[in-house]
Amino acid sequence: MPGLNDTVRYWDYLGAYTPRRAEYLAAVDRVFSSGRLVLGREVAEFEKGLAAYCGAAFAVGVNSGTDAILLALKALGIGAGDEVITVSNTAVPTVAAIRASGATPVFVDVEEDTYLMDVSRVEAAVTPRTRCLLPVHLCGQMADMAPLQEIARRRGGWVIEDCAQAMGAAYGGERAGSFGDVGAFSFYPTKILGAFGDAGAMTTSDPDLAARLRRLRFYGIAEGYHAEEEGFNSRLDEVQAAILNLKLPGIEAAASARRDIARIYDEGLAGVGDIARPAVRPGRRHQYYLYTVRTQHRDRLMEFLDKEGIETKINYPHPVHLMRGYSGLGNREGDLPVTERLARSILSLPIYPELPTRHAERVVETVRRFFRGGR
Ligand SMILES: *Cc1c(COP(=O)(O)O)cnc(C)c1O
Repeated sequence: MPGLNDTVRYWDYLGAYTPRRAEYLAAVDRVFSSGRLVLGREVAEFEKGLAAYCGAAFAVGVNSGTDAILLALKALGIGAGDEVITVSNTAVPTVAAIRASGATPVFVDVEEDTYLMDVSRVEAAVTPRTRCLLPVHLCGQMADMAPLQEIARRRGGWVIEDCAQAMGAAYGGERAGSFGDVGAFSFYPTKILGAFGDAGAMTTSDPDLAARLRRLRFYGIAEGYHAEEEGFNSRLDEVQAAILNLKLPGIEAAASARRDIARIYDEGLAGVGDIARPAVRPGRRHQYYLYTVRTQHRDRLMEFLDKEGIETKINYPHPVHLMRGYSGLGNREGDLPVTERLARSILSLPIYPELPTRHAERVVETVRRFFRGGR
């Protein structure tokens, strides 16, 4: 029997930090002792490593994933009066970045079993003002990129991938961040590649876009302290880049640890109660940033697991289009039936590379007990 105090944490980074503490501290010291604290060697090295990993020609580091989306929009010339097609079933920052650019988000509904943008609905949402398609690779699985790229090509729009939850995910063997005109990444601590603070980056294979993204993160300056255009201050911090450089080589091992846990859940929860497990489309590599199930008994299951010492989360309890802060966009309840239904039935189980196997097994056993009537 597991001890009562043996809480199954939803997420924890200390299991990854503690064994490598000396290396992390040495990396921080290397930056502090280098004589260059801003946009130095570590950022340059990380950008090279990230671009190579994603299969893009360039990467540009910024302060956060939100800024990565915002600067991508700005670099593509998208702003007030323009429409960006995206989803409401996402983290707020996707939409916050679109609004910060001045553009208007236009939401399409998602697929019930993958939680991803329902690309069959995109064409109908295109208007003469549409400038960009912004799919979100939610939970670690890529959206259906081929039809999206086809629509963008035919209707003359840009594509920005929100890769914040999907570093290393693939579609037809090609990785997230290599499909869109720009890929936007977050290295927020919980993400697949997590810094020890805020960090983000953009990938692109267009040299002119890469140069513009570089300017935009540095006050619009290319050289000589002369702003070529109105820019921002959004630099990837040198210390965070050093942390990311340490972690980047381990990303495949971490992903395979996540997949092992997902397999325990997939096998252990098959046919249990009314639990629906996350669907994975053929030809896609799921990174399991989140392992999100659906059940009509979500709230009671969540409470039961909590009492049994198992932390879970709802990603996300409120679709963005129904949030008070976005009521000005004029969306109403009922606009996105699948998205709204999912918000009432989804539950994310603990999944991270260092989650002990016995914890994942305990999650399975406890969910089974709930549905056997142990509640
Ligand atoms: C985390 C996240 C972001 C934003 O990243 P930050 O680094 O927190 O700004 C954007 N989109 C999605 C889907 C995310 O999960």
